Amino acid sequence: MTNKMATVRFIGGNCHALIQVIPEEDLTQFLQAQSTYWTKLLADGSTHIVDGGRKDSFWHSYNVDIYEKQLLRDSSNNFIYEYVRTQEIPRCSALTKKKTRCLHAAKLDENYCLKHMEK
Ligand SMILES: [Zn+2]
Repeated sequence: MTNKMATVRFIGGNCHALIQVIPEEDLTQFLQAQSTYWTKLLADGSTHIVDGGRKDSFWHSYNVDIYEKQLLRDSSNNFIYEYVRTQEIPRCSALTKKKTRCLHAAKLDENYCLKHMEK
């Protein structure tokens, strides 16, 4: 099965003027663009900002730019997403069975990931 692809243009925020081709079925009301920066919290309590790479087991939070789908397309028939706000996404606060901190990101406006919210 082939997905119909759509061209999306972002306005404002870190992704300003970015054009991306994504499957049309993924065009939800809001899209999140993850910042390449993330923070890590070390055992001594200090916080470090890291640019890029894979988040390790010390990761603490990262930011996403939230974009909202606009009703009208532009003159090239691209979908338009406009920047709404930047939000910090913290790490899930739950502890796993091994007594280590859950590695997943918390859901938007929550302290826990989807798995740990259900409990
Ligand atoms: Zn979790």
